[in-house]
Amino acid sequence: MDSAVAMPNLTVDGDRLWQSLMETAQIGGTQKGGIKRLPLTEEDRAVRDWLVRQCEALGCRTAIDEVGNMFFTRPGTDPALDPIAIGSHLDTQPTGGKFDGILGVLAGLEILRSLSESGYATRHPLMLVNWTNEEGARFSPAMLGSGVHAGVFDRAYADARTAADGVTFGDALDAIGYRGETPAGSTKIAAMLELHIEQGPVLERHGKDIGIVEGVQSMRWYDLVITGVEAHAGSTPMDARLDALVAAAELVLLVERIAKSHASAVGTVGCLAVHPSSRNVVPGQISMTVDLRHPEDCQLEIMEATLRREIHARFDGRLTCSLSEIWRSPAVKFDGRCIDAVASGAATAGYSSLRLHSGAGHDSAYIARVAPTSMIFIPCLDGLSHNEAESSTKEQCQAGAQTLLNAVLMLDNSL
Ligand SMILES: [Zn+2]
Repeated sequence: MDSAVAMPNLTVDGDRLWQSLMETAQIGGTQKGGIKRLPLTEEDRAVRDWLVRQCEALGCRTAIDEVGNMFFTRPGTDPALDPIAIGSHLDTQPTGGKFDGILGVLAGLEILRSLSESGYATRHPLMLVNWTNEEGARFSPAMLGSGVHAGVFDRAYADARTAADGVTFGDALDAIGYRGETPAGSTKIAAMLELHIEQGPVLERHGKDIGIVEGVQSMRWYDLVITGVEAHAGSTPMDARLDALVAAAELVLLVERIAKSHASAVGTVGCLAVHPSSRNVVPGQISMTVDLRHPEDCQLEIMEATLRREIHARFDGRLTCSLSEIWRSPAVKFDGRCIDAVASGAATAGYSSLRLHSGAGHDSAYIARVAPTSMIFIPCLDGLSHNEAESSTKEQCQAGAQTLLNAVLMLDNSL
């Protein structure tokens, strides 16, 4: 096939995409302009119903799998080919914004609408996907639906996840009527592209329209406990103390120093509990969390080794410190062909772009295990996300959707 001849000049309708974003933002809309649409609630059911109506109006075939993942397929011309998937998630954080996840699904819908309007036939079927429970805000862990699809979790594990109110994922899924019959993981995907807001400030800082996402960084979580000795704050001289909080302060700075000394690394102490937390008691024990991330597993390995060595050097005495890893997610490298399609998709439309790694987890990180995958980022105001004030402009959303459409058409030609 001559790809130069085959590339059509199709465009998305930015106004229509924006209207869909604003229309669905009413479902679970908050007073501050955000969305509270926790997975498998009435709001989730309502937005799923809405999506089914839109896709079926376009003649797409709907399939729902056993964990509620939704697949809407527009047929291609070659019955031997697996579908190219586009999409993201419709669930939000309790105080979520209007774009996180939703943009990826509605941009996919806009592409289906645009292709349908033009009558353009792709070789591959095109499949819009809504993954269940990406945020992990009601049922932990995050990225549960895509994780089941990719074989990271099984259906029984997903069904047994329990919300704070005692409701299980399985019961909630049955209750909203979105337990489908398609066996989890059985839906074939030729390639997956996900459009998402960046959720960070890098594109905005560099003044770029599009982020070409090369992968998801390596992440490790640790629990850290420092044990000293509780003592009277008035009668214990400074040189006779084993103050766990003073030691913790040093470690907070150590984590920051380690992260800053590795380019592209981040390090965070997000929780810190002081025991016994009394005004006139020298703190005897501190529990804290450490979150370390880097695009490369080997660099993260070095960061962890540095942290352990420095802790050992500091606490090889009466004060004790234990560091235990509780979770890790290795670096994800996206597929070269998908990354190239995104890069040329942006260039074809005349958008400036930047190659970067995702700092956050995404459904695509799991899908990359079972299908060639990449992502497209657009800027969001001040890099703010997981916040009701989360904001991208109509033009930014349109640029992301157009890049997605161009990339899909390129993959349709090349795969
Ligand atoms: Zn998201």
